[in-house]
Parts: sequence; structure tokens; C-alpha cells
Amino acid sequence: MQETIRSRIDGIRSRMESAAQRCGRRPEEITLIAVSKTYPASDVDLAAAAGIKDFGENKVQELLQKQPQTAEDLRWHFIGHLQTNKTKNVIGKVCLIHSVDSMHLAEEIDRRAAAAGTVQEVLLQVNAAGEETKFGLSDEDVVPLAEGIAENCSNVRIRGLMQIPPYEEDTDKVRVWFKKLYVLKEDLQRRGFKYADILSMGMSHDFETAIEEGATHIRVGTAIFGERNYNKQ
Ligand SMILES: *Cc1c(COP(=O)(O)O)cnc(C)c1O
Repeated sequence: MQETIRSRIDGIRSRMESAAQRCGRRPEEITLIAVSKTYPASDVDLAAAAGIKDFGENKVQELLQKQPQTAEDLRWHFIGHLQTNKTKNVIGKVCLIHSVDSMHLAEEIDRRAAAAGTVQEVLLQVNAAGEETKFGLSDEDVVPLAEGIAENCSNVRIRGLMQIPPYEEDTDKVRVWFKKLYVLKEDLQRRGFKYADILSMGMSHDFETAIEEGATHIRVGTAIFGERNYNKQ
């Protein structure tokens, strides 16, 4: 397993490099987040040994369980839907929350971050395709929410946007959603959200396309750790 995870990571890194080169970007601009949900802490250790520093989890309980079993210098990203009543548990534990999609949640993060004496960095999650099964803002709600947060939540810093676009076998068909997120991010920056320079998009099957369209953070699970078995949990 050790060699498998390492060689998969090496393979992804070289594909990231090629994708960056194809569009004139520097590979260092792109962060590979290893999505370790459903996998044990021992797999996190193996990925860390292969040079990964950033890990993603989508469940609060699983994050809290796994994190203490792993090296202290890793950065954790919360990439799943966050319930307000669990917010206090992740403040101070994650470098970035990728999934803010309401003022209610932003206010709770703000309250908890203020109490902890910290500023929590977040991304706004966008669901531009309007898929009912997914969380996230419609594109026209991005600027109003960003402005509301800037006005009312001094302990929340908007670092950019995240999306989980519709699944398409043909990754070229996802390109339109990646382009859309890029335009929304540019618009935020133009409106003065100067810290909003992160675009979290691209997963195992489409990260190269996402890089070509400007992704700064890709979230890769199965291509590193193998197929997930949700029943094992
Ligand atoms: C599980 C998950 C991923 C990783 O998906 P893979 O297809 O396994 O790479 C990325 N982003 C989010 C939000 C996830 O929940």
C-alpha cells in the first residue's frame, strides 16, 4: 500500500505539472489536497511521507478522530457541508473551510472564531448548475453573500470559491463550470476582495481540466487512496 500511494501521488504530480505547463502556469501555484475521507490515519501518514501537506475531510467527527493520530504539521481542509451546530468543533482545527454557502453559517463561524481569538479563512461554495442534490450558492448570490460577510463578520476572511460541478464522463463538458467559477472569482477580486485568490475545483477524474481553467487547489481522493468503501466506516 505504501508504494501504491506514493506512486499514485508521483503520477498525479507529474500530470499536474504537464497540465500547468500546457497553459503557461507554474506548478507551484497549485496545491494538491489529498481527500482522506473514509481512509484510516495510516493512509494519511503514507501520503504525508510522499510529501503531501494538505488533507481534506468532509465530516466533522471523522476529522476530529483522525487528526490527532497524524503529524502535527499537516494542514486540514474542511470540504463537506458544515452544520452550524458543529462549527465550533472545526475552528482552529482547519486552515480553510471550503463550504460556506449562507450568512447563517458565516455568522456562526464568525462568532466561534472571535471567541477563539482567530480569523477563519473560508471559501464560498458555488452550485452554479443549480443541482438540487448539492449544496452551494447560485452564481448571483455570490457577491451579496461576500458583501454581507465583509460587513458583518470581521473574524471571517473570504479566500475564494469552491465548487463540485456536475459529473461528466467527458471532462471537456465540465470546462464551462470551471470557467464560470474563474469569472466569479475575478469579479470578487475586482470588487475589492483582495484575499479571494483561491479557486478550489477539480477532483480525481477532472483535475487536469480544472488546472487548465485556473484551479489553485485540487481535491483528489480516489486517485490517491483508491476506491472508497463507505460501509467500512
Ligand atoms: C470526496 C470529495 C472529493 C474527492 O473526490 P474524488 O473523486 O475521490 O477525487 C473532492 N471534493 C469533495 C468536496 C469531496 O467530498
